[in-house]
Amino acid sequence: MFLTDCLGINEKNNLTIGGLDVADLAKEFGTPLYLMDEDKIRENCRIYKNAMEKYYGKGLVLYASKAFSCRYICRLVAEEGMGLDVVSGGELYTAISAGFPMDKVYFHGNNKTAQELTLAVDNNVGRIVVDNISELEMLSSIAKSKSKTVSVLFRIKPGIEAHTHEFISTGRIDSKFGVALETGEAEEIIKYAKSLANIDVVGVHCHIGSQIFDIDPFLLAAEKMTGFIADIKDRHGIEIAELNLGGGFGIKYLSSDDPVPYDEYIKAVSGVVKDVAKKRGLTLPKILMEPGRSIVAPAGITVYTVGAVKEIPNIRTYVSVDGGMCDNPRYIMYGSEYEAVVVGNPLGLREKTVTIAGKCCESGDILVKDIALPLVKAGDLIAVLATGAYNYSMASNYNRISRPPVVMVSGKKARLAIRRESYEDLMRNDL
Ligand SMILES: *Cc1c(COP(=O)(O)O)cnc(C)c1O
Repeated sequence: MFLTDCLGINEKNNLTIGGLDVADLAKEFGTPLYLMDEDKIRENCRIYKNAMEKYYGKGLVLYASKAFSCRYICRLVAEEGMGLDVVSGGELYTAISAGFPMDKVYFHGNNKTAQELTLAVDNNVGRIVVDNISELEMLSSIAKSKSKTVSVLFRIKPGIEAHTHEFISTGRIDSKFGVALETGEAEEIIKYAKSLANIDVVGVHCHIGSQIFDIDPFLLAAEKMTGFIADIKDRHGIEIAELNLGGGFGIKYLSSDDPVPYDEYIKAVSGVVKDVAKKRGLTLPKILMEPGRSIVAPAGITVYTVGAVKEIPNIRTYVSVDGGMCDNPRYIMYGSEYEAVVVGNPLGLREKTVTIAGKCCESGDILVKDIALPLVKAGDLIAVLATGAYNYSMASNYNRISRPPVVMVSGKKARLAIRRESYEDLMRNDL
């Protein structure tokens, strides 16, 4: 009926999430409002975790927290027994303050600062995913100065084209992330790391892109990376124990999207790693996967109140809402498409094509372009669907608009995970 099964419709003909009336929640918490079905997030975590246990055994699923980072989600992910991927000091600090087990934290990023690496070393972060030589040297000296040994993985570009938006395709040689496999750069950095003090070479990592629907690029990456581990062992006698295959699994933003079920990815990838390991006489590496979007995106919606409706005859009808690119910049950045529904009439006849626009001072500030909806008027509520990933985490205060709150729904109860920013919050750092 709707994009995800966490949405429904009740006897008042209102949209529901996790069984709660979205109009009631909008009344209680105000709009714009991010709503997330916590039970759905947990279910998604378990699909990955169970598949990893079933098809591979020796693995760990990490939640890529950049998709949506806050204390609440860090606690939830810890409860689900998963690991966490962080890409900045801020995401790491969030995990620390949520009490996330540090041994299961993987610290990524193509330009970690000395301050961020120091924070990681001081807090005994489980793995640092090293991007380049200068980072490696900096890390070695920080670890040495603290008489600690740090366990590292290396970010490798396996040279794979994934069919996704150019800005979110990261596995090719022309990418700012990591060291290249085919030029020998990856092999060099591993050999060099072996010679450095206070560095323990544990694994290799790749992440080929995001919102990928094909299974083939993942299989190719798994094949190349496992082969690379075997090459390193054969040529240098270096044992690589961990293979982190990144995230990037596509989700259903539109009803025409058709993602592969996540357990099938894990099944297929596990098969490839096992095959190559067997062929090359390799001990099975521990594998890691890092889904972000697919854990949280389908569980979230954003609720807006309609304000001005502007009909430009023969051109377009703009339905303006009380949020916009400040809470969801994905249209303006990538031209991302979304599905939307009218909260008070979710299954009504979609008789008019409109463009849902935000309230920011940019003509490109659009949430959904050319979508057929039932007729709406000022005061109606609209929900944009599948906004649980890369919405709150990419939100800004552009035009000094405060960020909406995030409310989690679980067991038919709503709980505030992040408060709405006040005007005072906006000025907290102004002198
Ligand atoms: C962004 C990212 C992920 C998560 O990607 P999704 O598309 O959200 O699943 C995982 N690993 C790394 C290194 C990333 O940069």
